[in-house]
Amino acid sequence: MHLYGTQTIENGHLTIGGIDTVELAKQYGTPLFVYDTSLIRKRGRGFKDTFEKLGVTAQVAYASKAFACVAAYQLAAQENLSLDVVSGGELYTAIKAGFPEERIHFHGNNKSIAELELAFDTKIGCIVVDNFHEITLLKEISEARKQKMSILLRVTPGIEAHTHDFITTGQADSKFGFDLNNGQTDEAFAQVKDHEFLCLLGLHCHIGSQIFETDGFALAARKVMKKMGEWKQAHGFECSVLNLGGGFGIRYTEEDKPLEPHVYVEEMIKSVQAEAEAVKLTMPEIWIEPGRSLVGDAGTSLYTVGSHKSVPGIREYIAVDGGMSDNIRPALYDAKYEAIIANKADKEKDATYTVAGKLCESGDKLIIDAALQQAEAGDILAIFCTGAYGYSMASNYNRVPRPAVVFAEAGEHQLVIKRESYEDIVANDLPLTLKKG
Ligand SMILES: *Cc1c(COP(=O)(O)O)cnc(C)c1O
Repeated sequence: MHLYGTQTIENGHLTIGGIDTVELAKQYGTPLFVYDTSLIRKRGRGFKDTFEKLGVTAQVAYASKAFACVAAYQLAAQENLSLDVVSGGELYTAIKAGFPEERIHFHGNNKSIAELELAFDTKIGCIVVDNFHEITLLKEISEARKQKMSILLRVTPGIEAHTHDFITTGQADSKFGFDLNNGQTDEAFAQVKDHEFLCLLGLHCHIGSQIFETDGFALAARKVMKKMGEWKQAHGFECSVLNLGGGFGIRYTEEDKPLEPHVYVEEMIKSVQAEAEAVKLTMPEIWIEPGRSLVGDAGTSLYTVGSHKSVPGIREYIAVDGGMSDNIRPALYDAKYEAIIANKADKEKDATYTVAGKLCESGDKLIIDAALQQAEAGDILAIFCTGAYGYSMASNYNRVPRPAVVFAEAGEHQLVIKRESYEDIVANDLPLTLKKG
């Protein structure tokens, strides 16, 4: 059985960060997300230290849509990471967390005027500009305020990376960014390069998610560097930043064979250095944006097993006290997970169950045909690797309160997000005042 980070099995129980998960379930209730924060730190350092060792100026920005809360942002700040936000809500969370504003980068394909104003108010480090509408808004806002703002232009290089390969397309059919191949990127450059208040630092691209190869990143780097080389030739303009996005893969099941953070970084640097030489550019700063690979395998979901349904000759179902409301990925992407019964962790996995959620959707299944210990009502089921796009995509479907979240490290644990109460669920509801007609 594959364990992650600091996980161990002691006295038949799964532990995380030196803490018995069965005790955590008892103390905080279920469903519960438990994060192994030392594993998050280790992953962050894996990226950062490699840049440092190779003498390349870099920013490693936590793509916080993977898991956003005040404590997670403070953890990222402790580790000297930068922070990607994609909405006013995430930016507000960063402000509340006291995150160093100069290391906040703001993404999104439809940032509102209010969101952009908040970014200017906060004096964040950089806005990643996605489209022409945004350029217009940014010019208006920065001119009205007479306030400078650093920007990157997000480009789509016509490379789509998939888990085990990548495809090159002349024209990327994406809702994000300026197309690198059809003149849009040059047009965006022309619109911003001499602006009094918008300071163009360079280019950004993000080619996909859960990627296990380095070729896609290398090819994207080459294409984007080539564009930078053209601008230097034609306009004498030198970009100082190349942002290669995130998408580094992690292990969900034994089919996934991720690379270590340092391998991605080393390969990226190699191809950027080679291309910088080829197009006669000074080596730019390299920024990357890992999300899933920082927090994904550091998160574990704990549930209490309830009902059991047998469909004779077909399937054994066990149902847990959460489901698609706290983890939409199986329903949304057909995502696969592994699990164990946390209070029987030293027992043989000699049973097969389909783990169903409690939501009113027949697609609400967390794992199909999971290898598990014999399960009975009251057992604590631990699903591994739910740290990214789990809580952050949680909903109140069926008016189910969202779970609590706990951090565990070196024998200590703390609550970082409270469990929602029924009062929270109705907090924004207002009584009917319309008269019956
Ligand atoms: C989602 C996203 C990331 C993070 O992706 P992961 O697969 O979680 O590493 C990074 N950059 C951008 C622009 C994104 O949209």
